[in-house]
Amino acid sequence: MSWDVIGHTWAVDMLQRDLAQDRARHAYLFTGPAGVGKRTLATQFAHALLCPNANPPCGQCRHCMLAARGSHPDLLTLEPTRTGRNAQIKVDPVREVIKALQLKPIEARRRVARVLNFHAANPQGMNAFLKTLEEPPGQAVILLTAERADDLLPTIVSRCEVVALRPLPWEQVREALITRWLVPAERADLLAHLAQGRLGYAVRLHGDDEALAARTQRLDDVQSLLTGNHVARFGYAERLAKEGKEDGERIQAVLDLWLGFWRDVLLANTGAAGQWANPDRAADIQRVAQAVSPALARTVMVSLRRTGELLGKNANTRLALEVALLDWPRL
Ligand SMILES: [Zn+2]
Repeated sequence: MSWDVIGHTWAVDMLQRDLAQDRARHAYLFTGPAGVGKRTLATQFAHALLCPNANPPCGQCRHCMLAARGSHPDLLTLEPTRTGRNAQIKVDPVREVIKALQLKPIEARRRVARVLNFHAANPQGMNAFLKTLEEPPGQAVILLTAERADDLLPTIVSRCEVVALRPLPWEQVREALITRWLVPAERADLLAHLAQGRLGYAVRLHGDDEALAARTQRLDDVQSLLTGNHVARFGYAERLAKEGKEDGERIQAVLDLWLGFWRDVLLANTGAAGQWANPDRAADIQRVAQAVSPALARTVMVSLRRTGELLGKNANTRLALEVALLDWPRL
């Protein structure tokens, strides 16, 4: 039986080989952009590590059943919890998982811990985990996920087998949406483009009309910001910063969306329309592409990226957004 994972064939092959040769490492780190499939792959691997059958996960045995229900006693999961503005992994739950990993397996051959989005761990949490990775308990396998290896301590990364997942070809995402999630072709087409190779993200978006409406609004905003003066842009920055106080990830999502739009403008300038992230906004993209040079589009992209990095470092959000918007041309 093959794993229930779409794409990432090389990674599945590698993990299956480790299992078949009984040389699973003590720690794996799955990296890649949000929604690319890190959790899905780590979960499949976790189930395979627990299933005693020759071709795991068999999906039928007691271990597989328990794991699928989320109640296998040897499968531990740690993930960020939202407190106020940001989702975080605090040190206490990290310590609990570490303690649980020291115990002998209850039913399976091993204990497996899924530690999801570990980049959201605070420094104490990361440090606590480092010691466990230095001297991993005998029968434990730790599966970490993080968007970028750079966001973790290098000493953590170096103790893991890194499995770096890349976005899938958009055709593969479209195909999976149609055959697996029964999404109508036209919608699958759009979602696949928007997701930029991240199947999980596309599936989430499919079930979230509010998010799709928000996307439309934010892209409409691009048009009014481009014609707006300083006062209008500063007002927008202030409102967006305020929304970010309630939900820190929202601003990053807006910046990512805008980055995609400006990349489309750049692609339009160079004639590569097939890879647009926002093909449904072709008219807007072409209009902007005709008005700005590729160099200027690139400047805007660099500035949006820098803003995203600044916000990750707790810079003054409103100020950072103002600066970013001032880099935009006025049309
Ligand atoms: Zn099984």
